[in-house]
Amino acid sequence: MKASPAAQRSLLDLQTVDTNVSRVAHRKNNLPEIAAIAALVVDRDALRGRLATELGAVEDARTDLSRIESDVAVVDSRIKRDTERLAGSSSAKDATALESELVSLSRRKENLEDAELEVMERLEAAEAVYGETAASDTSLSARIAELEATRDAGRADLDRELEALEASRSSLVSTIDESLLTAYERSRTRSGYGAALLRAGTCGACTMTLTGNDLATVRSAVSDEVLSCPECGAVLVRTEESGL
Ligand SMILES: [Zn+2]
Repeated sequence: MKASPAAQRSLLDLQTVDTNVSRVAHRKNNLPEIAAIAALVVDRDALRGRLATELGAVEDARTDLSRIESDVAVVDSRIKRDTERLAGSSSAKDATALESELVSLSRRKENLEDAELEVMERLEAAEAVYGETAASDTSLSARIAELEATRDAGRADLDRELEALEASRSSLVSTIDESLLTAYERSRTRSGYGAALLRAGTCGACTMTLTGNDLATVRSAVSDEVLSCPECGAVLVRTEESGL
């Protein structure tokens, strides 16, 4: 294939742009915030698992408490009913039975109140534990949101860089002959390098130094002959730095 030395040199500019595109894309995919967020999300997931268990303990205590409160209400209404009956009773036998029931009701009420106190303490402790974990969850979420904002700002900056690179790539590509561009793209797809400067007899892409027949071929080639690196396939561009 033939192409003017100037056209061949424009492939080096294209390679510079493409190398920068890869570099910026790599930075975009490896922003430090990405790994930091992933680690914090793992922490938060664990915290949320704990939070669910702790909320369960709070709810259990609340259920126990309301059951005891309704038991107390039942006992209170019986005490009220028996007290009224006792006041209106004219039978000594009924009065004795009611008095005895009132004694056992008030003992039952005392027991319920002791249990109520115990459950209230348990509820308070469970709420404190839950509250602490919930606060950790809130601050962890805030930290994650901060990192996400930094990550997004970083991505936006790099997207602007990529857009600028794509624009200069398009204008460069429009000046390059199609068959030369095809040779460039074919090699770039295969080895990652489309074109390389031959400097002091060495390929600037794969750093192989040409010797023997390869070097002889390059030396004898006319300046508009398009050469490629025997190692990586990149279009080898010759300049005064090539050391031929
Ligand atoms: Zn090479």
